Amino acid sequence: MKVYTQSKAEADALFEQIEQAFAQHQVIPTPINFLVWYEYFLGQDAQLKAMLDEGIQHNGYSNLLGVKIYESLLKDKQADTSELEQAFRKFLERMISRLMDWTKGMEKHTQALDTYIHDLTTRGDIDAQTLASLTHNVLATTRSIVSSQSDMQQELIIATTKIKALQKELAEARSESMTDTLTQLPNRRAFNLRVEQSMQSTKQQDQLCLILFDIDFFKNFNDTYGHLIGDAVLRFIAGVVQKVIEPSQLLARIGGEEFALLIQHASLAQAEQLAERIRIKVANSQLKRKDTGEMIDNIHISIGVSSYKPGETWDEWYHRTDKALYHSKAKGRNRTTLAENP
Ligand code: GH3
Ligand code: MG
Ligand code: MG
Repeated sequence: MKVYTQSKAEADALFEQIEQAFAQHQVIPTPINFLVWYEYFLGQDAQLKAMLDEGIQHNGYSNLLGVKIYESLLKDKQADTSELEQAFRKFLERMISRLMDWTKGMEKHTQALDTYIHDLTTRGDIDAQTLASLTHNVLATTRSIVSSQSDMQQELIIATTKIKALQKELAEARSESMTDTLTQLPNRRAFNLRVEQSMQSTKQQDQLCLILFDIDFFKNFNDTYGHLIGDAVLRFIAGVVQKVIEPSQLLARIGGEEFALLIQHASLAQAEQLAERIRIKVANSQLKRKDTGEMIDNIHISIGVSSYKPGETWDEWYHRTDKALYHSKAKGRNRTTLAENP
């Protein structure tokens, strides 16, 4: 199953690239072309990228190249279950069948033209009346081609607009289902997907590290200050940690007061250093209550750190790291523990 995980901003950026490429390569905005270029700029499919680059280099972009790429690489992947995804699929299928009808109609017209031209050039005995009738047929067929072409163009323009709207809705729906509303961080679902993707694509898999952290005595916090302040603390911690990490490192809220951080291209020692930086930063931070001006400190977290061991499932990796986090809790909290090797 193909799941798109782009945020709205990422999807918008993709649309802009697609529009530019369409103008540059004079791509007709058919649904298939749209999908092919969407995948191209998404950049996750090396095979698709190579096929498209090579095709453009040889003959430039054509609808035929788009269809070829769609048939060989994309067709079978387009199977998601959400309603919007299905609507988009139906829409694509309808456009494809309209394109095919149109192509068939064009073929018929072209064949008719060929026959007329054959008659005109090979028959020596053409009288004035036959010539007039043949000329009439040629003109009528040509007109019909022109009108069918402009009809199709109109339809394609409308289709492109609809596709854009649908794609935007899809991107928004996907991004909503992947985002934690309280902190605006990716949620557990989004995190799981990204981890699985990274586990597949990272070549040096031991360079993939995971940090799990959980707020200490958070229940006491809620009991002392109330749930609303508790919520503010969650948002505050998300903000503090985001300032410490790099944009390429993925921070997510994966549970009530539990966060996860995925780090690529880092050794276990580097991940541990980062975990300690995060822990200390949180422990030293203070949150000011808006209503009373009171400073809230004494917020701290317990951390588990690990690096991925090839062969491990995500579930195993997560639990191994979670165990380290609970060692940090057991040893007195506000500390970092490295996970044991599997
Ligand atoms: P520990 O140090 O062992 O982690 O103790 P703890 O109190 O943090 O852990 P426990 O699992 O006992 O309690 C977690 C608390 O987190 C309970 C719940 O009220 C709070 N919590 C979970 N999600 C939210 C949330 O979205 N908002 C607020 N305000 N509190 C939350
Ligand atoms: Mg806790
Ligand atoms: Mg917890």
